Amino acid sequence: MSASSTGAIPTDYQPAPDLLKDRVILVTGAGSGIGRGAALSFARHGATVILLGRTVNRLEAVYDEIDAAGYPEAAIVPLDLQGAKQEDYELVAERIRESFGRLDGLLHNASLLGQLTPIELYDAETWNKLMQVNLNGPFLLTRACIGLLREATDASLLFTSSSVGRKGRAHWGAYSVSKFATEGLMQVLADELDDERHQVRVNSINPGATRTAMRQLAYPGENPGNNPAPEDIMTPYLYLMGPDARAITGQAFDAQPK
Ligand code: NDP
Repeated sequence: MSASSTGAIPTDYQPAPDLLKDRVILVTGAGSGIGRGAALSFARHGATVILLGRTVNRLEAVYDEIDAAGYPEAAIVPLDLQGAKQEDYELVAERIRESFGRLDGLLHNASLLGQLTPIELYDAETWNKLMQVNLNGPFLLTRACIGLLREATDASLLFTSSSVGRKGRAHWGAYSVSKFATEGLMQVLADELDDERHQVRVNSINPGATRTAMRQLAYPGENPGNNPAPEDIMTPYLYLMGPDARAITGQAFDAQPK
């Protein structure tokens, strides 16, 4: 299937308990919010999860939760996407190769919200920081991990988007633009990696309004209880990470009905 369009998850999809058995999956921003939810959910379905993030004690807490639940032992990779250089990403890939010898999935989840302000007032330093964390980091991490993903028989590369990455909205500034660029990166990669063997599929997912720190920051007046928790939106993530989505590539998914 060639890139690209809007994808739909089968509405009756039920992930098998061992859906991700023997797979090694890297999740960025795994210490909190949706990344934490995804890491726990992937581990529950049998994956060995590599928890990447900037706040080590949060990553350790997720590691401990996975351990206490008896899921496959996780690994922790401390990395701040804001300051990391190309060689840091290459080191991450090398460590994964040494420790696991494989990589079957990569969920780019970590992001910053930045300012909610008109472009004419947008702080240039904040703009650069967002592009670094939301776009350049995922580019460099993908670049470093492509070799490993290509060696897997059925690999999934999943980018996290947003509704403002598909339609611009006033005041969402660098966040919106970084998510548009994320969709672009996803499409370019999907086209480059599309081959008959369907070894690496590349898609994006918009989680939709979800009860996390970022959502609270963006909508401080909102009752957080109105939105689902990260664990409530994981079925589409499992579908896209696992073998049931094989050969689906270049598509933009929504985790929640719009
Ligand atoms: P949170 O702010 O709750 O969590 C973001 C995660 O990214 C945290 O684990 C954070 O680490 C990590 N992170 C931030 N900056 C860096 C950095 N420099 N280096 C490494 N890790 C970093 O966000 P959500 O869970 O809500 O969002 C997850 C994804 O979903 C994002 O891509 C977001 O854009 C997207 N999204 C979320 C929506 C929502 O309603 N929640 C709606 C649409 C899209 P730390 O724990 O250290 O802060």
